[in-house]
Amino acid sequence: MTVDYNLLFVGGGWKQPATSNRITAYAASTGEPVGSVPEALRPDVDAAVAAARAAFDDPAGWPRFPASERAAVLERFAEAFAARGPEIACRVSIQNGMPISLSGVLEASAPPMLLRYYAELTEKWSKPDVRPGRFGGRAIVVPEPVGVVAAIVPWNVPQGITFMKIAPALAAGCTVVLKPSPETVLDAFLMAEAAHEAGLPPGVLNIVPGGEDTGRHLVRHVGVDKVSFTGSTTAGREIAATCGGLLRPVSLELGGKSAAIVLPDVDLTTLMDRFFRATLLNNGQLCWLGTRVLAPRSRYDEIVDAVTGLAKSLVVGDPLDPETQLGPLVSARHRDRVAAAIDCGVRDGARLTAGGSCPEGPGWYLDATVFADVDNGSALAREEIFGPVLAVIPYRDEDEAIAIANDSEYGLGGSVWTADPDRGLAVARRVHTGSIGVNGYANDPVAPFGGVKASGFGRELGPEGLATYQVSKSIYIDQLV
Ligand code: NAD
Repeated sequence: MTVDYNLLFVGGGWKQPATSNRITAYAASTGEPVGSVPEALRPDVDAAVAAARAAFDDPAGWPRFPASERAAVLERFAEAFAARGPEIACRVSIQNGMPISLSGVLEASAPPMLLRYYAELTEKWSKPDVRPGRFGGRAIVVPEPVGVVAAIVPWNVPQGITFMKIAPALAAGCTVVLKPSPETVLDAFLMAEAAHEAGLPPGVLNIVPGGEDTGRHLVRHVGVDKVSFTGSTTAGREIAATCGGLLRPVSLELGGKSAAIVLPDVDLTTLMDRFFRATLLNNGQLCWLGTRVLAPRSRYDEIVDAVTGLAKSLVVGDPLDPETQLGPLVSARHRDRVAAAIDCGVRDGARLTAGGSCPEGPGWYLDATVFADVDNGSALAREEIFGPVLAVIPYRDEDEAIAIANDSEYGLGGSVWTADPDRGLAVARRVHTGSIGVNGYANDPVAPFGGVKASGFGRELGPEGLATYQVSKSIYIDQLV
């Protein structure tokens, strides 16, 4: 049985799409179709932006709601989403292969948590700040919503990433046009149902499932005030150039090739579950994973063996099985890309110690793969692969480990593994990256997340994530000059 939708969520209701084009969703574990939705094309984007614009410009509209009223709507949205959470998690796992044990957290629980977190913050962060002026009067600094937000998200954590954008944007008083990725569309329709049930005012949230061209049209649309993009560095560069030309604010959460620095004092075997989560979670399809494992020469063989053992021990299976640790990749095209990167590593002379091939049978599975003796200058160490592929790189001392970690085009995540948390913190401070963990890694909603260098700019999560959807307006009162 497949799940099929015929209408788009635009302007607070279900609207006929402009064309009969459709997007088919597939099960990553079988390659079979599991549903379809209308593809939003340019006229649908125009209608969605017009609805978001009207909702933002309405003199009694969403940006002008008292913060407490916006918070109440977000609470209702959280409740309606949570009621659908398990089904949403299932849909995501079927489409992108995310093990259900993970989608239950990132795709079912995290969105309502983020809505509630930003509902709590909105009142405090929407308050004007009155400052005694230096010219006799006062300055009132008012945080205002930036306007209509174009939110473009990838397929790897579709709902989690969506709510990292729309929860703070809605809390700030912005209205949103969301473009989900064509690989994961079915979950977005359940989310739309939740928004509808929660009574979000018409036009405050609009959803346009589509591909690159739909995204391009949205990014450069005259009715959009800010673009919030998560995806590849290649697309991010193009979007940055478009927004640069338009002088349009943009935040970019892009690719990564982070380092997991294993210090010589650590007993990695006692931390293996956390190490797995920091390096191979979601079948390697997470931007912040530490896919370059830096191992001290003094314990090199032992660490290569431990990482190899981890890759070989993972439970591979149906993403809907709660025991599964490694599911399929999102698509045949993506699996072929990852397999090509593995072939390139072999040709470059790295030593394959685990995996390296695609198992027989249906679905887009790929064995968890480990390369040892990787040169940090090789493609295996420099390019984002976005699959379950780890590159172990030897280092001599702490300074060299940090130099290797920093010798990357990217700077998004990372981790340090040590028996001494103070030493871990000192090393973490020297790595040029947007976020890093000591003996683990998890994005905590209270702290800003984002990249440096080719991993992008701007921050999501924390109060900083709310501030990116606001602009400060200064009102000068009774100044003497
Ligand atoms: P992608 O860049 O191909 O697509 C991401 C989204 O952007 C999709 O919705 C796509 O349709 C749209 N898109 C693509 N090109 C566009 C363009 N020129 N203009 C407008 N929209 C466009 O990325 P993907 O393959 O879906 O996702 C994987 C990538 O996302 C990886 O590089 C990964 O590191 C990155 N990612 C980053 C973060 C982060 O927070 N930094 C989080 C998750 C994924």
